[in-house]
Amino acid sequence: MLKQLGYFIEIIRGGIITTRHFSVNMFFHILNLFHIKTKRKGAVTIQYPEVRQKIAERHRSLHRLMKREDGKPRCVVCMLCATVCPSECIFIEAEEDPDPEIQKYPARFIIDISRCCFCGFCVEACPEDALRMDTDEIELADYDRDNLVYNLEKLLK
Ligand code: SF4
Ligand code: SF4
Repeated sequence: MLKQLGYFIEIIRGGIITTRHFSVNMFFHILNLFHIKTKRKGAVTIQYPEVRQKIAERHRSLHRLMKREDGKPRCVVCMLCATVCPSECIFIEAEEDPDPEIQKYPARFIIDISRCCFCGFCVEACPEDALRMDTDEIELADYDRDNLVYNLEKLLK
């Protein structure tokens, strides 16, 4: 009997919480309807994926490697990004560049996005502005982990 009473109390409690949220949201929506400005806005349900929220201008999305004018990667393999990365998800292999001005270029540049925490430290650390996180690509979920390993070819796109 006590168990049943406990269930009943929880149902009533849930109902009160739902009604409270509904009433508060409705109140703010009505104020909005009459153009009364308030600090708080009523909650809105976004019909994702048909409707998408605007991404903040300073967002961090999927990485991309920048190119020089001749199409080569701007990266000079200084390894700062790989060193600073807290998730240790950047792997770079250097090759000697015939151009003495450049010295090194990345023969392999891999970012394992499945381990990345999108902190942006790699972008901040890069002295060449060779790495950016401004692709607007934020829907990166995949059923296959291998698809989340981005190589030089994918990052230079
Ligand atoms: S965003 Fe952060 S975790 Fe991701 S690769 Fe860059 S430094 Fe590593
Ligand atoms: S910090 Fe920049 S230049 Fe250095 S290895 Fe990373 S991407 Fe290349």
